[in-house]
Amino acid sequence: MHQSVAHIKNEKLSEHFRAHEPLAQYTSWRIGGAAEFYVAPESEAEIARIVQFAQSQGMPLTVLGGGSNVLLSDQGLPGLVMHITHRFSGFEFQPDGHVIVKAGTRLGTLIRKAMSLNLGGIEQLWGIPGTLGGAVVMNAGACNTETFAVVETVTSLTPQGQRVTRSKAEINHGYRWSDYKYNGEIVLEATLKLAPTQAEVIAENFQKADLRRQPQHSIRQPNCGSVFRNPNNNFAGRLIEQMGAKGRICGGVQVSPDHANFIVNTGKATAQDACRLIQSLQADVWQQYHVQLEPEVIFLGEF
Ligand SMILES: Cc1cc2nc3c(=O)[nH]c(=O)nc-3n(C[C@H](O)[C@H](O)[C@H](O)COP(=O)(O)OP(=O)(O)OC[C@H]3O[C@@H](n4cnc5c(N)ncnc54)[C@H](O)[C@@H]3O)c2cc1C
Repeated sequence: MHQSVAHIKNEKLSEHFRAHEPLAQYTSWRIGGAAEFYVAPESEAEIARIVQFAQSQGMPLTVLGGGSNVLLSDQGLPGLVMHITHRFSGFEFQPDGHVIVKAGTRLGTLIRKAMSLNLGGIEQLWGIPGTLGGAVVMNAGACNTETFAVVETVTSLTPQGQRVTRSKAEINHGYRWSDYKYNGEIVLEATLKLAPTQAEVIAENFQKADLRRQPQHSIRQPNCGSVFRNPNNNFAGRLIEQMGAKGRICGGVQVSPDHANFIVNTGKATAQDACRLIQSLQADVWQQYHVQLEPEVIFLGEF
């Protein structure tokens, strides 16, 4: 334990501060232990205070967004977990199609609002759960497009507490990653450039995206979307299916019988179960096809 609860409470980091907060409830997989300290900031000032506090105490700080792309350790997370979600959300549309979006905003909420204003460019991302912050970190994408297709700038906070705004050209990004996956900065907001578009065109793109999601909709059990990145010129799900591993069970997790790149929590899954199943699929795909499957899901905590 780094600090006493009373000591941290004295710091008044945020109204939404708790010790030993179970985190599984904040993840789409419903897996994982508790945060030593949990805080859900409402403002940039609070985020800055939390970062400054963690830095001054040498305390680990982990950011959680919508929790739709993480595998949380059964041991939970030491130090502070900063949950950037609806409490730090909202957007500001400008007449020229620019929109400034706070990191905790749900992608789905943003897409709905953009559609109602006949602004196109992100409707293809419909169905991706999670927050704008998580989408920027992961460069989330679908239907041949990705988050960075509409990003103009991203504003973040460095671990030293410096607020930095970078243009898209200054941010390295690629298939399911951006610099923010590695640089330890906290995404605060992004400016997106959307295009005035005919309502019928947006509706058609939206329906295509929705249709593509239909097979996933039949998966009712908690999951984290695609577990593995697609290898070059191939599909992780296809390889797993080809070797007959659909439906494979390990403790409380199972390779979805409906979608081989999804692993579902059948009720009482642990992170260890998920980790063991991931490793067994990697080993078998390597043995059979000499393809190294890389997890897309982010591992948080000790494994
Ligand atoms: C059913 C389902 C379908 C999915 N379909 C797709 C899909 O089609 N395409 C796709 O790309 N993904 C998909 N995903 C994965 C996931 O939704 C995306 O990766 C999403 O962008 C993650 O956002 P999040 O807010 O949930 O991030 P989280 O899972 O909370 O976090 C992901 C990473 O980002 C970091 N992070 C989050 N917010 C911030 C912030 N503000 N600042 C700094 N770091 C931050 C976290 O520390 C973590 O490392 C799917 C997931 C599910 C469950």
